[in-house]
Amino acid sequence: MSAVAVWVEISEGRLKKPTLEVLTAARQWADSENLPVVAIALGADFPPNLTASLGEYGADRVIRLKGPQLEPLVNSAYARALAQLMRERQFSYLLLPQTYDGRAIAPFVAVWADGALLSGITQPPQREGSTLRARRIAYSNKAIEWIATDHLPVIATLKSNSIVPAKNPRVPTEEELAYTPLPEDLRLKSVGIEKVATDKVPLTEAEIVVSAGRGLKGPENWGMIEELAKALGAATACSKPVADVGWRPHHEHVGQTGIQISPNLYIAIGISGAIQHLAGVASSKNIVVINNDPEAPFFKVADYGIVGDAFQVVPQLTEAIRKYKEQHAH
Ligand SMILES: Cc1cc2nc3c(=O)[nH]c(=O)nc-3n(C[C@H](O)[C@H](O)[C@H](O)COP(=O)(O)OP(=O)(O)OC[C@H]3O[C@@H](n4cnc5c(N)ncnc54)[C@H](O)[C@@H]3O)c2cc1C
Repeated sequence: MSAVAVWVEISEGRLKKPTLEVLTAARQWADSENLPVVAIALGADFPPNLTASLGEYGADRVIRLKGPQLEPLVNSAYARALAQLMRERQFSYLLLPQTYDGRAIAPFVAVWADGALLSGITQPPQREGSTLRARRIAYSNKAIEWIATDHLPVIATLKSNSIVPAKNPRVPTEEELAYTPLPEDLRLKSVGIEKVATDKVPLTEAEIVVSAGRGLKGPENWGMIEELAKALGAATACSKPVADVGWRPHHEHVGQTGIQISPNLYIAIGISGAIQHLAGVASSKNIVVINNDPEAPFFKVADYGIVGDAFQVVPQLTEAIRKYKEQHAH
């Protein structure tokens, strides 16, 4: 049975947002190819409502590969299982999220399933005769690249925040299979995770990001950034020098050498807009820049700009957002 298969990423018992984006893209892709969507989850235990949740976002079938050694996640073991399933079931397509684990698993699957790898695509591939064409961001957000393949199967990863998750409810069929990883796929194992990020909203999944740079003058001034982020339900980020001097933790550093994000709204405060910073944020859907220098390069890529002192503008903006939310609470 040919299908658009999806790897379902589960974190702390919940479906990650990139998985819902991938399901949405897979549904569009499957509809254009007249194929079903098969969602594949791997693990030792699964959330009780997993099948129903996947059905809400368009899965026709849910396959659970279950085994005690599948937790915690080991990329090679997951990849082998997915490749094996693709071969056995003759799935033509597999879509994974372009997350840390998705981007690590996908190349293994492509090799073991003898597939073509389309990595970091931003929308479902489109068919032109026997060729599939896909679009992705290239050269640190400075270009769009079209990639194409005539080969099957296709293994693709979808860049986070490229697609808005959309419900497309159906009642999926379910199947559960036991899976024991090969010993050679368990050479490396996660033996413990110590959390350093305390954000409620993970930066890579956030729809809104409030980011600040050296214009803030010192770490003691980040309270107003966190207040604004809280009012908006946003994650916080920063420029590289700010992380380098220890004003903010390194996991908040965005840019060419940091995390690359594409939220719906990126608010840059006291950041000049150097090319290396833009490389990580320029594909954000809306960019708001707050800077006291009207010549700051960031204004050239801004959708909205406020020329002003961050120490005056940010508290006023936070207050205005709070008031707006209070007035529109019901
Ligand atoms: C190989 C390489 C890789 C790099 N990778 C990255 C990367 O991944 N990410 C990254 O961010 N940088 C990166 N950089 C560094 C980058 O070139 C810039 O130096 C850096 O982004 C500047 O950080 P900034 O905008 O916070 O500071 P600055 O350039 O010092 O800018 C501060 C801004 O704050 C404004 N400002 C000052 N006071 C106020 C105020 N009161 N209110 C409002 N605005 C104010 C100023 O007008 C200025 O525009 C890299 C550099 C190199 C060479």
